[in-house]
Amino acid sequence: MAADDRYMNLSIPEIREREDRWLFPTYRRYDLFVGRGSGTAVFDLEGRRYLDFLAGIAVNALGYAHPRLTRVLREQSERLIHCSNLFYHPFQGELARRLAELSGMEKVFFTNSGTEAIEAALKISRAHARSRGHHDKTRLLAMKNSFHGRTLGALSITAQDSYQAPFRPLVPDVEIVEAFTVEALERAFSERVCALVCEPIQGEAGVVPVPREVLQAARALCDRYDALLVLDEIQCGLGRTGRYFAFEHTGVRPDLMTLAKSLAAGYPLGAVLGNARVAGSLKPGDHGTTFGGGPLACRLALEFLDVLEEENLVAHASELGAYLVAGLRGLAARHDMIGEIRGLGLMVGVELGAAAREVVTRLLARGVIANCAHDTTLRLLPPLVVTCRDVDEFLAALDAVLAEVAAGAAASREG
Ligand code: PLP
Repeated sequence: MAADDRYMNLSIPEIREREDRWLFPTYRRYDLFVGRGSGTAVFDLEGRRYLDFLAGIAVNALGYAHPRLTRVLREQSERLIHCSNLFYHPFQGELARRLAELSGMEKVFFTNSGTEAIEAALKISRAHARSRGHHDKTRLLAMKNSFHGRTLGALSITAQDSYQAPFRPLVPDVEIVEAFTVEALERAFSERVCALVCEPIQGEAGVVPVPREVLQAARALCDRYDALLVLDEIQCGLGRTGRYFAFEHTGVRPDLMTLAKSLAAGYPLGAVLGNARVAGSLKPGDHGTTFGGGPLACRLALEFLDVLEEENLVAHASELGAYLVAGLRGLAARHDMIGEIRGLGLMVGVELGAAAREVVTRLLARGVIANCAHDTTLRLLPPLVVTCRDVDEFLAALDAVLAEVAAGAAASREG
């Protein structure tokens, strides 16, 4: 049967006009009208190729149209897309088992997104304290510049004024740890704290790793005050940093961990995983979701985990990340604009100061997708299947763009 291409034939002005007229204007979009993807590239509606160093913001870990995923998607969609959490299906428990075995955790709850995984973690944190008879142990700690999502609970622990300001009052009893230091953590802790939530590497803040000694102190303080350590691995988890989970680089194990993004390699799926300490915190009826953990999402996630393992993509992320960072350091020797280069594996941030946004726009004009985080950082999150050739292509484009931007800045100084 021929594909039904009715909507693919909408013109660019028609697409824009519909969005302007009918959508809440929540997104500032770039002028890229995406038609399809293949491997590490996407193609716009006119067929122009873009090398993708953002991967749907760390979602498309296997790139686009990976044959293993498209096969499973086709097969499972013909069998069963959705069935509700009132019933069993073969994939949810098996996926939970696989994730638990990979991470050393005990229990899993599936969601549709990262922010919902965070919500579940917050509820488990308070439920855990209550289940131990601590009725006033409700305080949640979060780190400066954190990003955990946009629902009210997740937003309350997202310590960025621009995201929070329009929506206050937020969830009460949240305190922000104002510096990445052991002293700041110690000041924030008390018997009232039920959990500390922390991204091991802050993504939206511009790829900022939390220092190892701070994470270790966080673990010790959580133990001392009988609080839970919640690590948000929504962006940095599942192989991106060259280990299955970023916490593996730190020697610190969480009580709860959140995942989403690439979990079903492009299909919406999130999860919160808990260790033995929290395994008994929820009873039937305490939490739930209509879609979370559905058969299609879980089947895709199982395939994703198989491909990660069989194609050795976690080690590949480590190697290609090192290759990328070495190339960036080479560029830094020639371009003053490049400041600090941070990250692990294929989660990389490059400080570019005020030029970051212009660099991203100019890269796009040259057919390369990247991202600007926190205004000054070029954030790179390529698919885990990226090749050395892709990295070389990216570096050549960045080299040219940095030269253009520097020439533009020099011209405007002279003019
Ligand atoms: N936590 C982190 C670390 C994230 O990077 C994100 C999304 O960017 C979220 C939570 C929220 O996830 P979602 O957008 O799937 O709700």
